[in-house]
Amino acid sequence: MFAEVVFPLPFRNRFTYSIPEDLQRFAAVGVRTVVPFGKRKLTGYIVNITSKSAVTEDVKPLEDILDDIPVFDQRMLEFYEWIADYYLSSPGDAVKLAMPYGADVETKRKVIVDPERCKELLLSEKKKNTVKKKILEVLAGRVEINFGHLQKMSGKKNIYSAVRSLEEAGALTVISELSEAKVKAKKINFIRLAKSPAELYILIPEIERRSPKQVKLILDMLSLKGEEATLSEVLKRSGVSKASADSLAAKGFVEIYEQEIDRVYAELYSEIQQEFLLTEAQEKVINEVSADIDVSNFKAYLLYGVTGSGKTQVYIELVKKTLAKNKSAFILVPEISLTPQITSRFTNNFGDKVTVIHSRMSPGERYDSWRRVLKGKAKVVIGARSALFAPLKNPGLIVVDEEHDASYKQFDSAPKYNARDCAVILAKFSNCPVVLGSATPSVESMWNAETGKYSLLSLPERIDNAKMPGITLVNIADEKKKRKMENVFSSLLIEKIKERLNKKEGVIILQNRRGFSTQMYCEDCGELEICDNCSVSMVYHINQNTINCHYCGLVKKVPPACTNCGSLKLKFFGAGTERVEDELEYHFPNAVISRIDSDSISRKNTLSQILFEFSKGDIDILVGTQMVSKGLDFARVTLVGVISAEATLWLPDFRSDERTFQLLTQVAGRAGRSKAEGEVIIQTQNDKHFTLLKVLANDYRGFYEREISDRKRHLYPPFSKLCLIEAKDQTAGKARGAINDFYKELHKYRNRLIISTPASAIIARLKGFYRFQIMVKAKRDIDPSGAIMRKAVIDSFVEFNRRSRYRDVKLFYDVDPQSVI
Ligand code: ADP
Ligand code: ZN
Ligand code: ZN
Repeated sequence: MFAEVVFPLPFRNRFTYSIPEDLQRFAAVGVRTVVPFGKRKLTGYIVNITSKSAVTEDVKPLEDILDDIPVFDQRMLEFYEWIADYYLSSPGDAVKLAMPYGADVETKRKVIVDPERCKELLLSEKKKNTVKKKILEVLAGRVEINFGHLQKMSGKKNIYSAVRSLEEAGALTVISELSEAKVKAKKINFIRLAKSPAELYILIPEIERRSPKQVKLILDMLSLKGEEATLSEVLKRSGVSKASADSLAAKGFVEIYEQEIDRVYAELYSEIQQEFLLTEAQEKVINEVSADIDVSNFKAYLLYGVTGSGKTQVYIELVKKTLAKNKSAFILVPEISLTPQITSRFTNNFGDKVTVIHSRMSPGERYDSWRRVLKGKAKVVIGARSALFAPLKNPGLIVVDEEHDASYKQFDSAPKYNARDCAVILAKFSNCPVVLGSATPSVESMWNAETGKYSLLSLPERIDNAKMPGITLVNIADEKKKRKMENVFSSLLIEKIKERLNKKEGVIILQNRRGFSTQMYCEDCGELEICDNCSVSMVYHINQNTINCHYCGLVKKVPPACTNCGSLKLKFFGAGTERVEDELEYHFPNAVISRIDSDSISRKNTLSQILFEFSKGDIDILVGTQMVSKGLDFARVTLVGVISAEATLWLPDFRSDERTFQLLTQVAGRAGRSKAEGEVIIQTQNDKHFTLLKVLANDYRGFYEREISDRKRHLYPPFSKLCLIEAKDQTAGKARGAINDFYKELHKYRNRLIISTPASAIIARLKGFYRFQIMVKAKRDIDPSGAIMRKAVIDSFVEFNRRSRYRDVKLFYDVDPQSVI
């Protein structure tokens, strides 16, 4: 028997291994296996089992199998292959999405040193300045070192050939060692009685004579009447030591055993379950989708429901129908903000049938949540984009809430998938309906609804006839002339906040930039303080007194003088959330103010805690980044203020208008969700901007019409498919050379594709890497599925790899990019 294995590495092929006798029972499609790969050992995924192998020579055997239950089956494998194909990644990278995070086993290389021989060789290299000498210096006085560490210490990446020649010279040996998986199932000790209660009661006087303590433990366990108990809780309750328990176990009175337990992620935030009659509009939507749930029919719906129209309740009712059919459901929500509130609503309805998967959980909690799905204990998965790949059997419904949200796109590693679009494909593979919900549908999804690819459902009214909030635009420039701006606040916004605080109502303030000041500038030489690794400005954080790069994470102490000319005339510009919070504290010293952004809520449960206090009225004002715009449903919020609409409007990206419309409409939608009427103040430098006027008029339709005609004119999605190709290198010349060589190959397809000439990325340098890009457009009429485009990119890459002297430069593909910055 042979197994075909793929790896989470950038190779497209499958590799064949033989299956040794003792592993044949466990080998199956969908399990992880440890195999030799070159000089290393790696975790790979079995994608096929055959009795014949095309390769006959040198077939190596599998070494181990890591899963007792297969993680995916043939049907899901096809789904992953679709992803790999569409997003131009390797199949192994796509399959990796299905695997629990951090549970791989792989080899680490280690160098074992012969100190004597090293000393001799170092003497002979003394006068030279070679890589070899550098390595020998690092090795001096050591007996072993990790290969990666050696690379770092010697400050060289390419140490392979030098190490090999040192190995030949007998100075060292390189060995491979398997490193354990980072997360594993957690096991703890349980205790149970090993004799019947009747027997024990007879023995108690005897035990008591020798050790009264041990009797305490036995009595405690008898009181449990057979209920399961962990060793630690029994010891704690009876006040007895572990040694006493061990001695009872040795005498055969009790038994101590290990058992796997679940690490359950619990949100602090909770709500009381509410029962209500569904509205007519809700009923209509539910009936329509239920029809497809009942007969297991694939259909894609776009649910366009204004903010506060009761979409969550629709999802809950649909999940009830799905579970009644003995099927399971995926509920995807944007990263972070929605989770505590929506989770609590689902848990209220479905108890422990629900499991949550998102990035604020510990790896252990995530792993256990994933295991509950794999074992079929959890039937409803709620989570951010990665939750779509949880091993849920038999899905009968997929919901993607706030489908327009950019966080559905995986932007940092291959495959750069969009979970919303993958959800539609998965629904197709699973024969079930998929519901994409939003108050501000993406232009692409609305277009799909207009052209019949999706069915449009709508919830046009707010629940309880709550009115949409009234919106006012405040022109910052005009207000400045009238001396009505106090730093970042207009006097109107301050007045309004005061009013609401007096009524004990809730206020939300949006400023979509973190930190205190977004730029640090020298008045004498005019230089901005730029990150050492990225071509972006450093952001001043007042609490730590540091300047930080929000792209690579570099943190520095605030320099006392300009790093360019030494002048002391440093100025700070551009207000971030910290600055807004600071000014609010100045204006409203008696109000309780909390900030939500990725700096302030990094600790687990902080977000839950803040939202809970805000819902009770213990916090008066929430200030934050876009996190405050997403999904929050608090009846007491009556005022929303936006410090500056420009934060997203002026980004040089074809989606910037759309993003701005969505962000502002969503944040406005947090106000006035109950009988108390809401209002919204948006400060801007540009109160005639089309997008803002459409936000003001609450006119999604009008915004969409104009945006779609712009997209058509400039051939942007949905009228084309895009693929962004990027070359990255620490040396600008190499990155440029690579992109130019790639362009030469790609250029051959210019008759059928629109190919931009290579250019430096808008953020030209990121994390120390220079970035050059080509944008490819596949026109809808010539290449509707993008198949020609994908083939052109892959074929060009093959040629590039054969011919270019820059073939060691890393190339990245982003199909359907969310942003081109
Ligand atoms: P959306 O997600 O569309 O913005 P939500 O689902 O958060 O809106 O619903 C808004 C509020 O209305 C929530 O507090 C929810 O509990 C409540 N709600 C939903 N459906 C009903 C109903 N049929 N009757 C009364 N209240 C409802
Ligand atoms: Zn200067
Ligand atoms: Zn940086």
